[in-house]
Amino acid sequence: MQFEFFREFSKIIKVLLILFFVLGLTSARVSASEDSSQDSSEISQTRKELVKAYLDEFASGRFQAFYPQIYTALTNAFQKLPEDVFITLTDRDRPIIFVLAITSGIGRYANSTEFIMREFDPPTFQDGFYLVTLSDELDDAPTPAAVEGIIFHEMAHRYLEHLKEAEPSCEHEREANRLIKRWGFEKEYQKASEAFGSKKEGDSPCSDKEKKQEL
Ligand SMILES: [Zn+2]
Repeated sequence: MQFEFFREFSKIIKVLLILFFVLGLTSARVSASEDSSQDSSEISQTRKELVKAYLDEFASGRFQAFYPQIYTALTNAFQKLPEDVFITLTDRDRPIIFVLAITSGIGRYANSTEFIMREFDPPTFQDGFYLVTLSDELDDAPTPAAVEGIIFHEMAHRYLEHLKEAEPSCEHEREANRLIKRWGFEKEYQKASEAFGSKKEGDSPCSDKEKKQEL
C-alpha cells in the first residue's frame, strides 16, 4: 500500500492551517528550574532503538539527510518523553507524522512527501494520523534543545487533543506550554521561547493579545 499525502488534499490543508495558527510559543519567561530531562546514559537502549525505528518510518527522510539539527532534536525529544506519553504518541493506529516545510528555493512553493509501507510493516493509520510540519529554519537554531522545545509543544497539542476541539484558542497554547513543564522540559521550553518566541506584533496572535492586556 502506498500512502499519498495529497490524496485528501483539502483535509490536510485544513489541518496545516490550524497548525500554523496555533503554533506560537508565548514569549513569557519561566522561572529558572532544575533540569530534569534525562541525560543520554539514562535512556535505555530499547528506547533508542524504538525511536530510531519510529523516525525511520514516520519522519521525512529529509531531516536525517539534510537537516541534522532537526533530526537530532526529534531523536532527543522522543528519547526523553515519559514512558506513558511515548506509548501514546507512537501508537501505530494514530502516529504523529513529521514533514518538512521548506522556506527557501523553489521548493517553498510546493513539495510532496511519499509514505511507503514495506511488506514487513504492521498496519498503521487505522485511527488516522497527526501531522506536524517542521520548518527548515529550525535547523539554524542555536541548540538542538531549542528545536526540542518546539517539538514538545506540538506533541503537547496532540497529547491534549487540541485539534479535536472546535476552535483553536490561546488557552490551548498556555495549556500546551504548562504540560511541557510538567513533563520536565522547562529548559527546552525556555530555549525555544528565546529562539523562536514572538518578537514583534503579528508574529503570534496569542502573545499580541497578552501584550495588549498587560498595557
Ligand atoms: Zn501551539
